[in-house]
Amino acid sequence: EDTSTQSQTDVLIIGAGPSGLMAAYWMARYGVDARIIDNRDTKVFLGHADGLRARTLELFDSMGFQHRVIQEGSISTEANIWVPGPQGNIIRQAQIDIFRVDESPFHNTRLNQGRIERFILDSIREHSDLDVERSVIADSLEYDEELSNDPNSYPITVKVRVLGEDDSNPPCGQEIENGSEAADNVLNRSNLLPDDWADLAPRKKPRKTQVETIKAKYLIGCDGAHSWTRKQLDIPVEGSNTDHIWGVIDVIPLSDFPDIRRVSVVNNAAGTILVIPRERGLVRFYVPVQTCEAGATERFDRSKITLELIRARMQAILAPFTFDFKECSWWTVYQVGQRIAAQSTKDNRIFLAGDAVHTHSPKMGLGMNMSMQDGFNVGWKIALAVAGTLKPEVLETYASERHPLAEMLLDFDRHWSPIFTDRKPGAKASDMALIAGRFEDFADGWKVFYPASSLVRKAEDNAEFAFARHMIPGERVRPVKLRNHADGGTQWTTRVLESDGRFRILVLAGDIRNPMQRQRLETLTRGLAGQSGSNISPLSRYLEIPGRFKSPVDVLTIHTSPWKEVEFFDFPEILRPFDPVKGWAYDKIWCDDACMFDRYCDGTAYEKWGVDRVLGALVIVRPDQYIGWVGELGDVEELTQHLDGILVKKSATGEFDQAL
Ligand code: FAD
Repeated sequence: EDTSTQSQTDVLIIGAGPSGLMAAYWMARYGVDARIIDNRDTKVFLGHADGLRARTLELFDSMGFQHRVIQEGSISTEANIWVPGPQGNIIRQAQIDIFRVDESPFHNTRLNQGRIERFILDSIREHSDLDVERSVIADSLEYDEELSNDPNSYPITVKVRVLGEDDSNPPCGQEIENGSEAADNVLNRSNLLPDDWADLAPRKKPRKTQVETIKAKYLIGCDGAHSWTRKQLDIPVEGSNTDHIWGVIDVIPLSDFPDIRRVSVVNNAAGTILVIPRERGLVRFYVPVQTCEAGATERFDRSKITLELIRARMQAILAPFTFDFKECSWWTVYQVGQRIAAQSTKDNRIFLAGDAVHTHSPKMGLGMNMSMQDGFNVGWKIALAVAGTLKPEVLETYASERHPLAEMLLDFDRHWSPIFTDRKPGAKASDMALIAGRFEDFADGWKVFYPASSLVRKAEDNAEFAFARHMIPGERVRPVKLRNHADGGTQWTTRVLESDGRFRILVLAGDIRNPMQRQRLETLTRGLAGQSGSNISPLSRYLEIPGRFKSPVDVLTIHTSPWKEVEFFDFPEILRPFDPVKGWAYDKIWCDDACMFDRYCDGTAYEKWGVDRVLGALVIVRPDQYIGWVGELGDVEELTQHLDGILVKKSATGEFDQAL
């Protein structure tokens, strides 16, 4: 009996780990026809990655669920260094602050990957009926290069196996998480939160394994370190396994070590461990278990490493403090691979994201963050291109923006890892500070260094723009807290700038009590409405996002007049439009004024952004929360030119403009 079926989809995502789910989020937000498959039976529940950088939390805020992470996670604000003391003991050598008060409302937080996947999955469901198809394995890939220039074609053919009850082959692609057997032994309802219970039961499988042939316009390979997609495309990887082999355990520690609930590095003659406090009383330990010949490229025999061996190593390194545990929720052993794929796209039709592009040591907690940010970057671009609203050539910016970061990540890891495993104590604190200093902005995600492109208009020589000195195109909007003009409530910009799929024009209106400034604001709004000389309105000029938004461009106003001295209705109507069902758009006018009840809302947004409080400025924020363009308040024409390079214009008849 032939069970093979054929189907087509606009976007196929292979792999539902952190990077695949972030890409899928955008498919859900834009409502595009997409599928996401994964060879595993269920999502991840325990262990795996657990470090969230503050920048990732900023993105989660724009997606609407950072509060769930804050509620469940454990925040780390400092790192402690322990070294051998004079009497064979270990002593605390340094306490290093690992947060910057002014940079972000969020701090580095620890929470297991399974919970992060839960939150993204819930968010996807909130916006569409896209769901992960599990126990589905991608088996073969064909790509027709000749079709690559036609955005409406389906150049990709993937054969997948939908596993049935009859299939006894274990799913492939799980080598790196080789602690999963350990996890399975303890996986039960009692150590999961109730909203994960439904996912615990493996899904009902068809009686017989089925083969499906899926034709797709775009493919995103988010299939992890051993990426199947990358191998099908014959994309080489550079780098190798390192000689560092680590045990990783998530346990409830029984110990008198004073920093057991603080991030710490402990070095002594027996080795170096990393202590990472986690949610629900857990602590994660990274423990070196074996050193291969330097430069070894073969994978080592992990079956020799047991939980008991890791426990004994921990006890030796923490001595004379005590260490033991009764509860271990997850453990694994792995050999760190430092590798980077030579490219992250094929013709801008097939893309690789996350661990499929870069692998490195997990000790700095960057892998999941970088992977999610890859998925976030590629997802909105593909979804908006499929919707017909984004010019397909903009897809080139995925590789030009993310690949250099993958290279930086590897560079960072190569500098960091040796310091971590090097046992010479004296150098530690200063070396760590040096490396932390050099990579701080990058590691925390404050700077992403996106270069000039159709999406990012830089000033000549990468200089600052005088009218918005700290709004740097290609970087994030530095988060600030603002007051909603209509109700006076406060909100961080990370939430105000919701990742709903639209480009956002920030009208930094300045002080509208000033008559000259009011005049300028009115000139600007005539420009936005298409009533000025050029007769073009950037708000109605581009194709809609079908089923979601009439315009892919939204407007948000932030002014500096004292909250009590101007009225919502003082602002021109185009900045606070009226909807016959929902009424006035009260969420569109915000105020940079100090607020008595909320000390974070201190009226310093313009100062932090380097913008004149009277004259204001104009800024375009991309759907993924990065700054694309900055200009003076009156620069509507230039702003529109910038968007013309990105978005597809409606033709005079309202149809697709073929002569782009
Ligand atoms: P993955 O999470 O690997 O997801 C890939 C998915 O694709 C898998 O579900 C796989 O089953 C599926 N797949 C593969 N092949 C196929 C196929 N042919 N067909 C269908 N599906 C397929 N990162 C951090 O940021 N912070 C940390 O603290 C941290 N700690 C870590 C600790 C450990 C022990 C490990 C192992 C990793 C850690 N990482 C950490 C790294 C982090 O887990 C990864 O960087 C992250 O999971 C990568 O996400 P991804 O979506 O790219 O890939």
